Amino acid sequence: PPDVEQLGRATWTFLHTMAAYYPEVPSYEQQHSMKSFLSSFSKFYPCESCAEHLRDEMKKKPPKVESRWALGRWLCQMHNLVNERLGKDIFNCDKIDERWKDGPPD
Ligand code: FAD
Repeated sequence: PPDVEQLGRATWTFLHTMAAYYPEVPSYEQQHSMKSFLSSFSKFYPCESCAEHLRDEMKKKPPKVESRWALGRWLCQMHNLVNERLGKDIFNCDKIDERWKDGPPD
């Protein structure tokens, strides 16, 4: 079976980076595609218990795809739910662009 920690790090890197470069003002079609991507992702993520948790959380809090800002926030909150469950530090969602797009300010 996959190494859940390494898989998680790689996957969060991909997901947060994708959200950081999502359009500021996505078209209706882009919004629809992102929704269906996330729904499929939650069915095929190769850690079955992780995927099950994610599907539960997504039922309670459906993905926000109306803007880059909204998607980034939503994903940050989803990641924080996992952080909380695993006893990791909660990440400050005001810092997502610094972490995943712009790098630290100079
Ligand atoms: P990670 O949590 O992998 O984070 C990587 C980096 O992201 C951090 O170093 C930090 O810079 C940044 N970051 C942290 N929090 C946020 C945030 N909220 N928003 C933006 N950036 C942030 N593991 C399990 O054991 N059980 C599970 O149920 C489980 N479910 C998962 C569900 C999903 C959808 C994913 C993608 C992963 C899941 N994992 C799960 C793996 C787990 O989340 C971690 O990836 C893994 O434990 C490695 O943790 P880490 O401390 O290296 O940092």
